[in-house]
Amino acid sequence: MNFDLTKQQVLIRDTVKEFAQREVAPMADELDRSERFPLEIIEKLGKLGMMGIMIPTEYGGAGLDAISYALIIEELSKADSTTGALVSVHNSFAPYILFKWGNEDQRRNYIPPLAKGERYGAFAATEPNAGSDLGAMQTTAVLEGDSYIINGTKTFISGGPRARTIIVFALTDREAGARGMSAFIVENTYKGFRVGSVFDKMGIKASETSELIFEDMAVPRENLIGKPGEGFKIALSSIDGGRIGIASQAVGIAQRALDKAIARSKERVQFGKPISNLQAIQWMIAEMATRIEASRLLTRRAAFLKDTGAKFSMEAAMAKLMASETAVFCADRSLQIHGGYGYMREYGIERLYRDAKITEIYEGTSEVQKLVISSSILR
Ligand SMILES: Cc1cc2nc3c(=O)[nH]c(=O)nc-3n(C[C@H](O)[C@H](O)[C@H](O)COP(=O)(O)OP(=O)(O)OC[C@H]3O[C@@H](n4cnc5c(N)ncnc54)[C@H](O)[C@@H]3O)c2cc1C
Repeated sequence: MNFDLTKQQVLIRDTVKEFAQREVAPMADELDRSERFPLEIIEKLGKLGMMGIMIPTEYGGAGLDAISYALIIEELSKADSTTGALVSVHNSFAPYILFKWGNEDQRRNYIPPLAKGERYGAFAATEPNAGSDLGAMQTTAVLEGDSYIINGTKTFISGGPRARTIIVFALTDREAGARGMSAFIVENTYKGFRVGSVFDKMGIKASETSELIFEDMAVPRENLIGKPGEGFKIALSSIDGGRIGIASQAVGIAQRALDKAIARSKERVQFGKPISNLQAIQWMIAEMATRIEASRLLTRRAAFLKDTGAKFSMEAAMAKLMASETAVFCADRSLQIHGGYGYMREYGIERLYRDAKITEIYEGTSEVQKLVISSSILR
């Protein structure tokens, strides 16, 4: 077993770390307060190839592997978990789905602007009545002449108001349920497309999560991705890869919480000594560090399997389950180590505490991860 990163992976990690600490970390508090989508950061990351991480260079991407992807999302999330989330969601879905499932025209037309960060890409599957159960989807796509007419409402879409290319899932065969689901490329300029409510959230506040509403929206027939009825397969297989990104986001949040806890415990003096001398604090730090290491290893293993072309659904679900619970645990313990100061916004710990929670919910809740894991084991 070899746990070492390659020279290229180390170089990528260090380059992104330097960029993230210089350009992203100083913005984190302002982005959280203003809830402003970090467009300028996305554009800069696009120039570095970070908006098309796993896309081959011939389509404008960086041509990197899933391990590099995990390293990049972890470093960005350490600096600002909203930026980490936005980069993860974009990379896992729009350009990746088009590369994996799109035809050559779709690849050439749509991937380069996404991979270069000129367009933000969104993934629109969730609906008010279809969350964990995507098969309960109600959005329809009816073929009329050369267009599909799409009607329906998507909700909780990350970057919804900013996205220019959106992968939309809709039923082309209502009777067939999940097997009647298809995937489409939608541009935000299409007639009948509109952004609905933008939600006021607990954390990752700058990610602009919104409804997307389609009213008799005509989508050219050639924008169908793959074949009619392949949508559910496309959604599930891309979410498997997305979970590596969310697990990495969670590891980044957890590591940041630990780093802040270590620094604070060494400088805060109570009873005449730094609180790092207290066993109660030492045990919290030991437990945080151990859970982070386990989460990181699970995440890298899932990424490694993806890179080799092996099945990795169960491993990605395990990584996301473990890492998201670790992020919530570490944010909580770090806040505890900060005492009353951790409760104050200026220390940046309460932001981690709020941001960590989403990792247990999106791209499948922890309960859904357990379903994926147990169904692989008990099959
Ligand atoms: C900030 C944010 C960003 C998001 N971004 C996107 C996005 O970009 N694109 C997109 O399509 N979606 C997005 N989502 C949606 C997200 O993926 C869903 O919220 C998530 O899948 C859960 O669905 P739900 O909220 O409807 O909860 P529900 O499915 O209603 O679940 C409620 C509770 O029931 C539990 N539960 C449900 N079914 C089962 C079961 N079979 N067994 C055990 N427990 C179960 C759940 O675990 C949960 O605890 C986002 C959500 C948020 C909050």
